Amino acid sequence: MHLNPALVEMRVERFVRERLEPATYRRRVPLEVAAWVAPGEPVPFAEAAAAAYEPFAVGTAWGRPWGTTWFRLTGRAPEGFGGDGTRAEVVVDLGYSDVQPGFQAEATAYRPDGTVLKGLHPRNRYLPLAAVTGPDGAVEVLLEASSNPDVSGDGVFATPTRLGDPATAGTDPLYRFAGADLAELDVQVWELQQDVWTLRGLLAQLPEASTRRAEVLRALDDAVDAVDPWDVAGTASAGRAALAGVLAQPASASAHRVTAVGHAHIDSAWLWPTRETARKCARTFSNVLALMDEDPDLVFACSSAQQYAWVRDAQPDLFERIKKRVAEGRFVPVGGMWVESDTNMPGGEALARQFVVGKRFFAEELGVEPLDVWLPDSFGYTAALPQIAVAAGARWFLTQKPSWNEVNRMPHHTFAWEGVDGTRIFTHFPPADTYNSDLGGEDLARAERQFAEKGRARRSLLPFGYGDGGGGPTREMLAAAARTRSLEGSPVVELAGPHDFFRQAQAEYPDPPVWSGEIYLEFHRGTYTSQARTKRGNRRSEHLLREAELWAAAAAVQRGADYPHEALERLWRVVLLQQFHDILPGSSIAWVHREAEARYAEVAAELEELIGASLGVLAGDGEEAVAFNASPFARQDVAALGSGFPRPGAGARASASAGGFVLENERVRVVVDRDGLMSSVLDLAAGREVLAPGARGALLQLHRDTPTQWDAWDVDEHYRRHTTDLTAAESVELVEESAERVAVRVVRRFGDSRVEQVLSVAAGSAAVELSFDVDWHERQKLLKLAFPLDVHADRAASEIQFGHVLRPTHANTSWDAARFETCAHRWVHVGENGYGVAVANDSTYGHDTGRTTRPDGGTTTTVRLSLLRAPLFPDPDADQGRHVLRTSLLVGAGIPDAVREGYRLNLPLREVRGAGPVEPLLAVEGDGVVVEAVKLAEDRSGDVVVRFYEAHGGRARATVRPSFPAASVTETDLLERDVEQPRALREARPDAAVLELRPFQITTLRWRRA
Ligand SMILES: [Zn+2]
Repeated sequence: MHLNPALVEMRVERFVRERLEPATYRRRVPLEVAAWVAPGEPVPFAEAAAAAYEPFAVGTAWGRPWGTTWFRLTGRAPEGFGGDGTRAEVVVDLGYSDVQPGFQAEATAYRPDGTVLKGLHPRNRYLPLAAVTGPDGAVEVLLEASSNPDVSGDGVFATPTRLGDPATAGTDPLYRFAGADLAELDVQVWELQQDVWTLRGLLAQLPEASTRRAEVLRALDDAVDAVDPWDVAGTASAGRAALAGVLAQPASASAHRVTAVGHAHIDSAWLWPTRETARKCARTFSNVLALMDEDPDLVFACSSAQQYAWVRDAQPDLFERIKKRVAEGRFVPVGGMWVESDTNMPGGEALARQFVVGKRFFAEELGVEPLDVWLPDSFGYTAALPQIAVAAGARWFLTQKPSWNEVNRMPHHTFAWEGVDGTRIFTHFPPADTYNSDLGGEDLARAERQFAEKGRARRSLLPFGYGDGGGGPTREMLAAAARTRSLEGSPVVELAGPHDFFRQAQAEYPDPPVWSGEIYLEFHRGTYTSQARTKRGNRRSEHLLREAELWAAAAAVQRGADYPHEALERLWRVVLLQQFHDILPGSSIAWVHREAEARYAEVAAELEELIGASLGVLAGDGEEAVAFNASPFARQDVAALGSGFPRPGAGARASASAGGFVLENERVRVVVDRDGLMSSVLDLAAGREVLAPGARGALLQLHRDTPTQWDAWDVDEHYRRHTTDLTAAESVELVEESAERVAVRVVRRFGDSRVEQVLSVAAGSAAVELSFDVDWHERQKLLKLAFPLDVHADRAASEIQFGHVLRPTHANTSWDAARFETCAHRWVHVGENGYGVAVANDSTYGHDTGRTTRPDGGTTTTVRLSLLRAPLFPDPDADQGRHVLRTSLLVGAGIPDAVREGYRLNLPLREVRGAGPVEPLLAVEGDGVVVEAVKLAEDRSGDVVVRFYEAHGGRARATVRPSFPAASVTETDLLERDVEQPRALREARPDAAVLELRPFQITTLRWRRA
């Protein structure tokens, strides 16, 4: 047999391109087009529908960057249109490019009555004609078309562009309207296209020498023969008949089973602002509903309560239709979170609230509780997540992002993920390594090929549908699913929801392998640092929210004040939205980050007002200076969570010496040299020099920061090869000398930037505090702050949510080496037996800790903070301008001291004028049990809810005494629901509850008031 497979494949390819595709539609009748350009930001339908439309010629340019143009399409179908094996449609081409859907023009189609019909994008251009035809036969449809620019730069994602901000994006039109027609879809031709597409995808994956491959190839060759090139419509059925045999061959008994879940990963902001995401949701969700009407098997998984809330508020009719499909179990809310947040940086309480606020929305608005965590795209996963997720009622976790690792491959696809406290959650990584599948042969084969559990398990999940910018599944994908339900050589594809998958996967794999600890992403390490003002906004907001809830709860319970439920809920939702995995990580366009900064400023102003009002109520009328302490630790004689008269103490001294300046108190003696660097930090209690011999502390280091791939996302290993130590100082001088605090101010200039550093020592404190005011104008540079310490540390402890993780300071294995930049919250601690040092911060997340051996044989452990970057994409002006931040170096510190220092730096005492102190709402007796949140219950019952965790990594026992009359105390989950079996509450006495916590255990107590 003289078969030449390569030639047959070429023949089929050309046949599809030149014969099949042009034959998709038979008759086309142009529609009348009229247009109205919305002058500014998007307007509601009613306003647009009432506007004055001008006739618009097909072929005309339209759409300034970020603008909205409304098109009115009108016409009438000829007699008999859509008969004879065709389907009548409206087909619109807005002037699309080859860039993926979601990164260019898209539109929402409305009926004249304002109800949303469907979204339009480059791979989904049709509307069913019946849906836009009135009883009189007149066709009318309105399109709200977004002329979103392609910020990705043709999918390169690296070219600096000014398109990401409407102020700099220009006004020239981006698109040329290419057509709006009534068109007859030839059903047999379209079905033949789907047959050929699936078989060609399968063919490419089959072993070259296999019988199956030869048969599929022969069938495709036969199909081309069967179709008359000059009468495709008339012979498409013959082509299909030639393929029927190979399409009917069933899957093998051992075929891998793929649960295909309809999905659209819609980034809540990224290369577009949040207001565009709200419209992307309406377009995508309406597409999904339209497809569900056609295919009863389609199940669509959709995360992010925020996105449902946007649709509810902007398109109530669409939301009602979604609710019906939710009730049927076909439109499936997943994840349970407010947004698909970053999980490295959100604080403990904030990550808990992602679930509390998200699940509350799903329960109240949709009557469902998602049982999974759905985070396919976030940039690494904190070791605190299993416990938080399980405490919020989740049973399963899904992501695929670790497939992006630069170096190491995660060993499992289905496994139990064990968190820092030992909690385990059943976890699945879709082995196809995508959340945007088209259900083609390549993705399906990859799922089977890579599935690491083969031999013990046989099932994986595959999210399909256009994602990132939205769009979702298409009818072509559903056609592929139908053809691969049982197809020899292909995995078996089954349309179902994620919960079906997880139940089946768990049943077939009851004892999966375990991955313990964080799921570190070996990629995107710059996201702990990029857009530092966004980071600062997050950290400050989290602590202000803590203060606002605590003091409002105290004012309500102790003084009968109203608790500002609505304001707090609203402010939390703003902060939770900004934790989305392209906002807090700093990987969005300029528009998004300027908006985030503005929102954080509004949040801070409103929270300051709420805090001031509560403190005013609590302190009463008077002229005494009362200090309030929102931290979980007493400070300067002011009780934890309480108030009092602070006693700062005295004993800080400063002096000038030949080598520079000396700052000291009874705990620490610091020498700041003429370069403004610490040349000595003496721990007076331990009698020990903290800095490594010959090294200087508080050293700013400037690195070249030119990532290989993703600017805002990546700090690459090669950054360390180019370092400039910023040792030259413009001035070094003593400032603000008092008995309470002594300080040295250092001013440096480098490049186009200026930094003012204040190093200070306060009476009674073992911390050297450093505050920075930076005017930053570098490009593609990374600014680090280094503390080379004379400590032999094998590992560094970094604070995460509700605890800390230990990471090696060496690079023994490829896993250790790849972890060269890490995320920490308020502190990092390094130590050897009997001695340790902590480095704390008030708004920084990126850190690295390494060590070297000196000629004297000693070990230098260097802790560095990543203060600032300046990536060029997607925001070309990222991080330019002013930054203020604080850090501290705490000598002679154990983990408990580090925990305390983290709270101290982030929750300063607040002084108000009043009659006097009030008793704390509750007192906690016992080490290691830390109060993370005090609030009134979400259900507005007035119950007091308090979240605790064990912070040291050991066993802890504590007695908690509320100062208010309480009728009962119960242990609850994160959602404030009573648990059946208390795990931490040993004695449920309302006036003295006794808690026993395991290492890093979180627990929530709820007091019903008497
Ligand atoms: Zn994403």
